[in-house]
Amino acid sequence: MENQKKETPLLVVDGLKMHFPTHKGLGKSKTFVKAVNNVSFEVNVGETFGLVGESGCGKTTVGRCVLRVYEPTEGSVVYNGENISNLKEKELYKYRREMQMIFQDPYSSLDPRQSVSSIIKEAIVSGPDKWSSEALETRVDELLELVELDISMKNRYPHEMSGGQRQRLGIARALACNPKLIVCDEPVSALDVSIQAQIINLFMRLQKQLGLTYIFIAHDLAVVRHISDRIAVMYLGRIVEITDAAELYINPMHPYTQALLSAVPLTDYYEEQRRERITLQGEVPSPINTPPGCPFHPRCIYAVDKCRIETPELIEVEQGHSVACHLRMKCKEG
Ligand code: SF4
Repeated sequence: MENQKKETPLLVVDGLKMHFPTHKGLGKSKTFVKAVNNVSFEVNVGETFGLVGESGCGKTTVGRCVLRVYEPTEGSVVYNGENISNLKEKELYKYRREMQMIFQDPYSSLDPRQSVSSIIKEAIVSGPDKWSSEALETRVDELLELVELDISMKNRYPHEMSGGQRQRLGIARALACNPKLIVCDEPVSALDVSIQAQIINLFMRLQKQLGLTYIFIAHDLAVVRHISDRIAVMYLGRIVEITDAAELYINPMHPYTQALLSAVPLTDYYEEQRRERITLQGEVPSPINTPPGCPFHPRCIYAVDKCRIETPELIEVEQGHSVACHLRMKCKEG
């Protein structure tokens, strides 16, 4: 099964670039927001691929390019063996249902005038199948049960639900399309910590039950830890480190990953008191005017002359562990 997973990735993203012009209107824009800059990764069937980084690092843009909400400036997105980067809207139709997105704030993506039942029905009937009203009701009940919402909620409206319940409704709506791949864009960031754990457990159960594949986007490494099989860390539009989730927490090699991890609270009080925090200096530079060389160099305590001139490639330094850093340092504690 492991070998089979490795041979046939569900998704292959290669050399993805998404540059937005800074002004619209007459004449060509001379400046661009380089939101995504040469990003490549694969996602295997049944895997959860975590995509992590500070706000503005390009992770949500990657998710939107994968779903073709944005047309990438360069690069390819191959889904289930088909290059979907250049497909016309009509040809994209069958993939649109297979690839769904779940949002951070389900409230803004749900029509407040529609009941729970009609929100889910709308997603079901948007597909090619014809549904009798009886079959439609049964399917709505099934979906509510799948996301652990009581069927008595069918006639409620989004504003009558808690944040966690609304996120469950958002998940039910996505599942109504029978997706294979779901891009989960910060799906628990707006929720209380106790509810976050419940929703993450729900994602994990649904993955097992329905064989789903996730791209799980988050700004917090603590959130993706338990759900991800592999994690990619992004900084200023690039992947700076990518490896198995367990390996990333034990052996982070990129100074940016080390800094992000040092901000994740430890459960052991004494270890938490003893450990050294790495505080990043300065702000994330503008994606309009990215620094030359390594984009992280203005904030990196290890930067040397080479870092200011040459952009480090993402290189596999240990099996399954790739890092974009000239020094390819081991974690200080490691
Ligand atoms: Fe720091 Fe240089 Fe590595 Fe960039 S390449 S992360 S500046 S040590």
